[in-house]
Amino acid sequence: MPLRCVTFDLDDTLWDCAPVMERAEAGFYTWLSEHLPRVVAARRPESLIAERRDFCARHPELSHDFTLLRKGWLAEVAAAHGYAPELVEEGFRAFWEMRNEVQPLAGAAELLADLQADFRLGVISNGNADVHYIGLGHHFDFVVNAAIAGALKPDPRIFQHAVEVAELPAEEIVHVGDDPVRDVAGAAAAGMHTVWVNHKRVDWPGGPEADAEIQQLSHLKAVLQAW
Ligand SMILES: [Mg+2]
Repeated sequence: MPLRCVTFDLDDTLWDCAPVMERAEAGFYTWLSEHLPRVVAARRPESLIAERRDFCARHPELSHDFTLLRKGWLAEVAAAHGYAPELVEEGFRAFWEMRNEVQPLAGAAELLADLQADFRLGVISNGNADVHYIGLGHHFDFVVNAAIAGALKPDPRIFQHAVEVAELPAEEIVHVGDDPVRDVAGAAAAGMHTVWVNHKRVDWPGGPEADAEIQQLSHLKAVLQAW
């Protein structure tokens, strides 16, 4: 069967995620200091993170939706300190904008533009990055994230959701991502082909291997052409 669709993971596949999240968390703390000073005065930054983790643990029903988790935690902490619930949307938006201040890897936009000519392109992401806000949205035919699908990668349901949206058989889709379990094992379990993006040039950790491995995005087109 010919390949007709390429889906991409986002964080750590199309951009380096750690520095973005570090800046976003620091910026969110600054926002909290300015808008909910009583919350910040009562805690150290580490305690805020620990409390958010605790909120997540208490709400497994929201585990696939990082947006609802952060809003839910913010609503709880705002209410506990007598702040207006309106601050929840404002605070989340402040975090979200910083979380989306990503720098796509060199050549990423050009690669997507190039592949667009030959394939349908999609996003399959666990997180709340927004390719439209980031400026890459026009390259993609569809976006599936865990909040939409109701399940996190590697759960096959998020990949099956993408298969339905793509309106193609799974074996005509190749998923490209950096995580051996969430991306490679997950997509393979749903019947898709897989490309492992190994930017860090580490050894394969074990388990069923991807159909192909690339160490930089610029190698993807040649891999797809030789399929
Ligand atoms: Mg990733």
